[in-house]
Amino acid sequence: MLLSGKTAIISGGAGPRGIGFATAKTFAAQGARVAILDLDEAGAKNAAAQLGSQHIGIGCDVTKKDACDAAVASVLKSFGQIDVLVNNAGITQAIKVWDIDEKSWDRIQEVNLKGVLFLSQAVIPHMRSRKSGSIACISSVSAQRGGGILGGAHYSAAKAGVLGLAKAMARELGNDGVRVNSVTPGLIQTDINAGKISDEKKVEILAGIPLNRLGVPQDVANIFLFLASDLSSYVTGAVIDVNGGMLI
Ligand code: NAD
Repeated sequence: MLLSGKTAIISGGAGPRGIGFATAKTFAAQGARVAILDLDEAGAKNAAAQLGSQHIGIGCDVTKKDACDAAVASVLKSFGQIDVLVNNAGITQAIKVWDIDEKSWDRIQEVNLKGVLFLSQAVIPHMRSRKSGSIACISSVSAQRGGGILGGAHYSAAKAGVLGLAKAMARELGNDGVRVNSVTPGLIQTDINAGKISDEKKVEILAGIPLNRLGVPQDVANIFLFLASDLSSYVTGAVIDVNGGMLI
């Protein structure tokens, strides 16, 4: 098993059809103990319970530094160590740039970008002291192609910020044995976009995807597994596309 003896925190893992929960299931199946953190506390606990009694679910708003610190302290108390952090929590909003007001801008940056900083900062002292750790951050094809299919320009900006933040952390933490990487999914079928793609729009989207299908959460979970495991021990600062070839 690829993650035997390892422990992992996954943010945004409460949704049963989401990328976070697929990642949690994959990690658990590979021997990891998993802590699911989510704004939805009941959902996080329920998701963890589905994985088995050795896993935990914790309510945590990643936009709040104190909440991130408290959640990480609680995971350390339960597991004794943290080997992997998957920064997966995120929100989107499909509006045009001329409709973005300050409140929307701030909320999208806070969850998608500031949350990555706060949760990473919460685990970094522990990982540095152990000289070991893997942090994987979710970005999006929206950051790369300029404009999401379903997200607005504020979402593209936040997800592009994640790429810069992750690379800077990778550079600063490499000497401490901590790796930091990003994953850029294309269009993955989850609750974030459920019911938002018309059949007409789907045909248009598929025309731009060489593999001719939308992604599923497991497609992204598999990449997080690679980044969490020692298979990627010489990989840091990388950006891995999971988009069916959308950017070729
Ligand atoms: P999802 O809605 O199922 O998952 C997002 C999770 O984040 C939810 O469980 C939600 O409760 C949680 N969350 C929201 N705000 C939070 C906060 N402040 N603190 C803690 N948790 C919070 O959707 P998903 O598609 O699985 O999204 C997971 C990640 O993947 C997101 O960051 C999203 O931007 C990113 N992403 C998704 C796609 C896609 O096509 N689905 C593509 C690229 C990137």
